[in-house]
Formats: sequence, C-alpha cells, structure tokens
Amino acid sequence: MFSNIPPTNSRSQSSSANKPATGPGGSPPEPSEDGYTIGWVCALQEEYTAAHAMLDLVFNGPETSKRRDDNYYAFGKIYGHNVVITCLPDGEYGTSCAAAVAKDMIRSFPALRFVLMVGIGNGAPTRENDVRLGDVVVSTPRGTLGGVVQLDLANMRAGGKAYDRRIGFLSPPPRLLRAAQQEVRRRYDDPGLPDRLAANMERMARRQDFKRPTQDRLYRADYEHEGGPNCNDCNPDKLEDWNQKPRLIDRVVGVHYGIIGSSSSLIERTEEREIYARDPDLNILCFEMEAAGLMNMYPCLVIRGICDYSDSHKNDEWHKYAALSAAAYARELLSVLKPEKVDYQKPWAGLREDGKYIVGYHLVSL
Ligand SMILES: [Zn+2]
Repeated sequence: MFSNIPPTNSRSQSSSANKPATGPGGSPPEPSEDGYTIGWVCALQEEYTAAHAMLDLVFNGPETSKRRDDNYYAFGKIYGHNVVITCLPDGEYGTSCAAAVAKDMIRSFPALRFVLMVGIGNGAPTRENDVRLGDVVVSTPRGTLGGVVQLDLANMRAGGKAYDRRIGFLSPPPRLLRAAQQEVRRRYDDPGLPDRLAANMERMARRQDFKRPTQDRLYRADYEHEGGPNCNDCNPDKLEDWNQKPRLIDRVVGVHYGIIGSSSSLIERTEEREIYARDPDLNILCFEMEAAGLMNMYPCLVIRGICDYSDSHKNDEWHKYAALSAAAYARELLSVLKPEKVDYQKPWAGLREDGKYIVGYHLVSL
C-alpha cells in the first residue's frame, strides 16, 4: 500500500517543469533558483530537523548570499516538488522575524508559489475540540475568518480586547492547498487505507529523541502547576476526564482543521486560552507566534503540531514529537498536491523594473 511513497533519500530526476542545472561530479541535475516552487518556514531547530527528514532527495542548492539573503536553506524534492526549507535564527521568534526571513526567501526564490509554515503550536482543547498533544492543527477558514487570526494579548492584558476584527483578519490559505486538503482528509478518514502520517513519521524512527512521550496530561483549567520541571507532583485527580479517554480514531495522531490564533506573546494562562477556545465566533484550536507576519503578504498554510496545552503545566517534553507530526502532515499534503497544478499557479513574487516586488496585493521593497 506504500508503493507510491518514495524511499528515503532516493535519487530521482528533477521535474521537467524545472530548469535543470548541471550538478558537479555527475550528481543529479539540480533546479536553479527559479525552479523552487514550495517554501517551508520553521521557527525552531527541531522543526527544521523534522522538515529535512521529509525530503525524498536532497539538493546542494544554489548560492543565495549574493542577494543579501541572511537565511540558510535546505533544498530537496518531495513527491516531485522542489522545496526550499529555512529556519528562523537561533534565539529569534515572532511575527516580525518570520516576515523578515520570508522576505529574504522570496528575494532568492522568486518562483515560489506557496509557503508552508510548519512547526509546533500551543493547544486550546475543549471537550468539543479534543485537541491532544502530538495532534496536528491546520489553518482552515471558518465563517468569516481566514484560518489564522491575529491576537493582541498585550492589549487584552491592559484591559482591552485581544481580538479586533478590523485588524485581526488575515488572508485564507491558497485555494489549491485547501482543495488538496480535502483529499488528505479523505485518505485519513478511510480506515481501509494505511496511516500515511505514521509512515511519514517513521522516517525519523532512528531518532529516539523524536519518539512519542508517554504522558499526555490535560489538567482542569482552574488547577495550577505544583512546580518542578514536570507534572510528577501535580494531582492526577485534577485531570480532565475526557482528555484521558482513548479516542476512536485508528491513527497515530489526530488532525484538526480550523482557526489558529497568532500572537507576538505566549499564552500561558488558562483564562486566556479558554476565552479564545470557547468563543463561538473564534473556536481557536491552537496558538502560535509567527504566522501573522506572513499571512497577508504571501500565500501561506500554517501547520502546527501540538506541544502543550497553553497552561502553567507546559514543558518542552513534546516539542520534538509535535514538530515531527506537523512535518509529516506537510509531506502528506505535498504527496496529494500535483506539481503540474502548482506550476500553473502564478509565482507570488515578480521582479519589476523599478526593483520592487509585487507580493500578493502588496508592493514590497527588497
Ligand atoms: Zn503540572
């Protein structure tokens, strides 16, 4: 059943849609700068490592420093797509840093059609939205919302509103990616088909540090962490009962589609989490810190693996596994997405004669 999944690090010819460059020493031809169509942006080292593990073929890639590009990249091919992956610099995070990194990326790779933002996120579980650690949340339009909403937590903590519909609206993910999601969901929901996310996660089977942790504990919203590096001293009687029950899905990770909250500051109090998770107009499934910097400038899809429950009990134990599950979903999406359909999309950056780029609906000086 896995016959159409290319083996890890297999060698194949690049797509005829790309301009091949002559590789040194008889290596396979590589795409030139304008042969890369999919950008993949990570925020953390473990996300970058997991992303790299999803490549079928690794390229050396073109030289980008001559374009005043500070990013470092990994290059490769996934199911026929030429993919360029980058990561925010160590110690930097947030919307403005993500926007700066993406800006450099489009300067160097002007034929990119989409950016996937893939990494960890902080869960906002409710009984109705049973989001668990290691699950994947994919930004998907709901109602009048585009899939990601920008939150202003500093304003809320000062007694104002955290979400302003006038400034909080962000563009929905590209139509072609939302269409491909439907096929991903069909495959996922059919119990007769193999668990393709699990197969993708097996690509890191040798990395013990990326294995699934054993404890998934969601405490009641009014119960604070007792202290220490983990929850060994926390009271098991305070766990949410519905979170502890086995789920009915026969899949390694759950996948949820809906609204992601993006903020420049971290959600650490359950009161804040509950406001967004239970607001019927928002129903936020998870929080993250980078997407708002990109969504209105570039065609983006945000994919987040859940690493904690946005509460005082959070620790880093699930970071690597959650990074892996998000990367596994991104690979699955690319397996469904046909490279020919991607090629038909207009590149979202085109160099104009005056040296500025058209990016989406915005004019950006690069
Ligand atoms: Zn705890």
